[in-house]
Amino acid sequence: MAASINRQVVLTARPDGNPRESDFEMREGAMPAPGAGQLLVRTIWLSLDPYMRLRIGDNEQYFPAVPLGDVVIGGAISQVVASRHSDFAEGDYIEAYSGWQDYAVVDGGAARKVDATLGPLSTALGVLGMPGLTAYLGLIDVGKPEPGDTVVVSAASGAVGAIVGQVAKIAGCRAVGIAGSERKNAYLTDELGFDAAINYKTDDIAAALDRACPNGINIYFENVGGAVSEAVYPRLAPRARVVVCGGVSQYNLKGPQTTVSNLQNILFTEAKVGGFNIFSYEARYEDGRQRLARWLAEGRLKYKEDVVHGLENATAAFLRFFDGEVFGKLMVKVAQ
Ligand code: NDP
Repeated sequence: MAASINRQVVLTARPDGNPRESDFEMREGAMPAPGAGQLLVRTIWLSLDPYMRLRIGDNEQYFPAVPLGDVVIGGAISQVVASRHSDFAEGDYIEAYSGWQDYAVVDGGAARKVDATLGPLSTALGVLGMPGLTAYLGLIDVGKPEPGDTVVVSAASGAVGAIVGQVAKIAGCRAVGIAGSERKNAYLTDELGFDAAINYKTDDIAAALDRACPNGINIYFENVGGAVSEAVYPRLAPRARVVVCGGVSQYNLKGPQTTVSNLQNILFTEAKVGGFNIFSYEARYEDGRQRLARWLAEGRLKYKEDVVHGLENATAAFLRFFDGEVFGKLMVKVAQ
């Protein structure tokens, strides 16, 4: 039975640099009603992801910006409360970009039924969802790993990076992670099987890469940009591949952004640099999900979740992306 009030987190200001709690506001809206072909759903798990920073800013190159006053964008796992679409029944679990709110109306065509036999429900937002698919498809389809390759990944302990390193190991590669704390790096090497981990905050990144990648870097899975990329590019091996997936160190900058400044290294190594956007790979989702689910069931993939309870805590949790406090897939448990 649905409540009569729908709590929603709306965007009230475009962040100027780092986002602040005052850029968001919790409002109480009326309960929406589904029209023909639509579903009324109740949010169970809300996903928080770094890309949201791009969507609440004014850079419309990536995707349209969330309008001021609108519910903040976000993927979620929800339960169907009422269905006016023949493919869905009350009680079904679905994934949709239904936003930061307790209840939402979504088009049946924009919802995906979650197969709860593949793993716990929350994995549909993490290892078996958008971040897991980003890691798998970015590495396999763009990085094209070969056994013996050295794969370097930044933001390595995160939802995407941790899976990149593990899939690289499954593909017979060496995996080197770059992350921002000793605790995260110990997790990479001791629990996930990475061959080496570099702390970009305390290590000399260039020297550490030389030690960890004596034959150069065959694949760089780029998640952060900035100083880390500047150290990686001069160490690319001949015919290396770079998967440009994210640039989280740049998302809050007001001035010019640096992913990498010297493209001569691309010329010298004949490296291939490929941009990757998960939403262009929909045709590959099911293959990716089935493979990840199989590895998960076989115990070859591990994952970590960073869970926050209550929609009212979503904003504070989202801000943690930019100070290194997130450890694992960040998500909000909105309802049981
Ligand atoms: P994470 O869980 O990895 O969280 C982001 C991490 O980035 C933080 O925990 C922090 O870890 C690190 N970080 C923050 N600020 C900096 C900085 N200034 N310099 C270096 N590292 C920093 O997020 P996800 O796994 O969800 O996403 C990883 C990347 O993938 C993001 O860039 C995201 O935008 C991108 N992405 C792209 C997609 C696509 O289709 N192209 C789809 C999904 C994600 P630490 O402690 O190590 O600093």
